[in-house]
Amino acid sequence: MPAAQAPPRIVKEARGNLGKYIDSVCRLCRRQGVKLFLKGDRCFTPKCAIERRTYGPGQHGQLRKKLSAYAVRLREKQKLRRIYGLLEKQFSISFKRAERTKGMTGENLLSLLERRLDNVVFRMAFASSRNQARQLVNHRHILVNGKPVNIPSYMVDPGDKITLKRKTAGSPILQKNLEAAPAKRMPSWIQVDFDKLEGTVLTAPKRQDIDTNVDVQLVVEFYSR
Ligand code: SF4
Repeated sequence: MPAAQAPPRIVKEARGNLGKYIDSVCRLCRRQGVKLFLKGDRCFTPKCAIERRTYGPGQHGQLRKKLSAYAVRLREKQKLRRIYGLLEKQFSISFKRAERTKGMTGENLLSLLERRLDNVVFRMAFASSRNQARQLVNHRHILVNGKPVNIPSYMVDPGDKITLKRKTAGSPILQKNLEAAPAKRMPSWIQVDFDKLEGTVLTAPKRQDIDTNVDVQLVVEFYSR
């Protein structure tokens, strides 16, 4: 009998109900079969795990399986959740909020995920990955309208000013990010002044402004089953 696949390793932190995925994030890309860009600059180099091993992770990763309709929808939901680095509970809370909001649920969901503070810091190119952006927020290196905010899920609104602390910007990692930043494509709903280390949210992001490669309709269908 084949050995059961080990579940992803998630630890609960002592404080609150926060969980943390502690396995290799490259396994997540290999499971999805696409690049999710979870490791910053490394994702653009030949060291990217999915470039070296194009099959799924684990003992049975090389077996070709035909996905059921349910599995296709589940995969798409997992893809979106993993791109933004959310655990299941956080993601389903976002989905419920998107359902309650006026308009198309899928588009609302994407907009809510994009407006998370950790994502905005990443989009502003202050961080090379959402994970790094989350650390910056958690460690109070980010100000929103002049006040430190350490909640990665904080929702930014049009007009909000997001600032990276000048002292933090002096670190070698952040210097590297800032040097690479001007070459990165900035979303149209954000404007960044790298001299001031400050970005402004111009409008709420719409579907056409978000380059996340996910069929969000399949995610809606997953939750509507
Ligand atoms: Fe995914 Fe980046 Fe790892 Fe490549 S390097 S497998 S894109 S997380």
